[in-house]
Amino acid sequence: MPPNHFICSCCGKSKPIDQRILLGGDALCYACAEEFTTLCDRCGERVYRRETRQVDHHMLCPQCCGKVRAQN
Ligand SMILES: [Zn+2]
Ligand SMILES: [Zn+2]
Repeated sequence: MPPNHFICSCCGKSKPIDQRILLGGDALCYACAEEFTTLCDRCGERVYRRETRQVDHHMLCPQCCGKVRAQN
């Protein structure tokens, strides 16, 4: 692997480390982050799309879903 590169957890390709996006224990490249993750509409945290819930037309991370439900 070239110096200053990392292996993307998602696509498995070697990418420059300045294109690394950390999400939980994973390191994603920009392309994978764009495709598989989104930002929570409520707290702004990056989260996997598959883990988001749509509530009142907002995409929320699991933590915010819990908070929203608790408030109602
Ligand atoms: Zn990738
Ligand atoms: Zn959130």
